[in-house]
Amino acid sequence: MKKNKTYLALKEEVWDRNLCSGCGACVSVCPADALFFSEESEVFAPLSSGYCKQENDQVPCGACYEVCPRTRPKKEEILGSYIQLTGAKSKTEIAHKQSGGAVTALLLNGFLEGFIDGVITVTEDMWTHRPVSILITNSGELMEHAGSRYNWSVPVLKALKTAVITKKLKKIAIVGTPCVVQAARLMKTSSHDLIKPYGESIRIIIGLFCTESFDYYTLMEKILKNTHNIPPYVISKMDVKGKLDLNLKDGSFTSIPLKEIEEAIKDGCRVCTDFSALDSDISAGSIGTDTGWTTLIIRTDEGNQFITSAVHSNSLELSGITDLDAIMRLAEKKYNK
Ligand SMILES: Cc1cc2nc3c(=O)[nH]c(=O)nc-3n(C[C@H](O)[C@H](O)[C@H](O)COP(=O)(O)OP(=O)(O)OC[C@H]3O[C@@H](n4cnc5c(N)ncnc54)[C@H](O)[C@@H]3O)c2cc1C
Ligand code: SF4
Ligand code: SF4
Repeated sequence: MKKNKTYLALKEEVWDRNLCSGCGACVSVCPADALFFSEESEVFAPLSSGYCKQENDQVPCGACYEVCPRTRPKKEEILGSYIQLTGAKSKTEIAHKQSGGAVTALLLNGFLEGFIDGVITVTEDMWTHRPVSILITNSGELMEHAGSRYNWSVPVLKALKTAVITKKLKKIAIVGTPCVVQAARLMKTSSHDLIKPYGESIRIIIGLFCTESFDYYTLMEKILKNTHNIPPYVISKMDVKGKLDLNLKDGSFTSIPLKEIEEAIKDGCRVCTDFSALDSDISAGSIGTDTGWTTLIIRTDEGNQFITSAVHSNSLELSGITDLDAIMRLAEKKYNK
């Protein structure tokens, strides 16, 4: 029997060393559905039911190990290669957009033109801000889910199993932070028989710039609710720009220094060096453009085709103005940490 590395190696090399990013790729591809994340606070690596096709029944597998980005060496690139760096914004109003709404506009156009049949991303409960991994299959739903979720207690790629295996979608867009993008790219390039159906179903990978994300319980319950007396239901929008900015539902605004929320940063983020989602087709962020715009790094021909189509159909407006130095400063800081 071919000896692949299984969840036991993943546990030893990643979970037990606090290196897990929480991307959910291993959970998604396990054919035995044996891996899962605990609902309990501050447990931040997958767990196993103890059953493994290869370890228990000698059926060749190792799917989980194959897709884990944390078993691969660090990429020696800061911003990576790209075709174009541009500012962009949606031509139509997107109520909950984070920056220029460009990511939502691109995905809406993708549905309209038939380029995509599903989007894997993160949404949140509007009351508790608790994040949820979600498969979106139409444009109406997509509009509802614009905006960034900085809380993380959700394995994003978990919903991919439903999309690929249950619903048999073939043109899936993945939206995620760089760790999620790395796992999605591993799926797309893998020749492993159990991973190929996943890779062949992913059409486009959109990465979000990322410095860090936060454990839900530590940030929302311990720090904001208990220390600052800001319960989740009074918050209308969160943003992280050198500090945690909170727009509250009564119209007021407050900021909390990053120092005060540092303990909520996930362990897996502390070892992460990819700011700009090097493995994406298109990366998107707020730094580098004015308020109301999204910075886009277009990296691949597929990404370029999505952008060109969205511009031609009048969904997306581009502006050449971007501050490369500002993006590089953040990317270098993360790379060198
Ligand atoms: C955890 C996190 C950290 C970030 N850190 C930075 C930073 O340091 N600097 C910077 O310039 N930009 C950062 N960004 C990116 C920025 O907040 C915006 O997402 C980006 O500018 C795109 O804006 P938009 O208006 O075009 O997106 P929108 O049109 O608002 O669409 C956003 C899309 O992203 C999806 N989404 C939201 N949160 C998540 C998530 N956690 N995982 C997967 N999908 C998600 C939504 O479902 C939606 O489809 C971060 C984003 C996240 C989620
Ligand atoms: S980084 Fe992703 S693939 Fe690796 S163990 Fe964590 S959840 Fe699984
Ligand atoms: S810093 Fe961002 S990209 Fe890196 S592990 Fe954390 S959430 Fe993922």
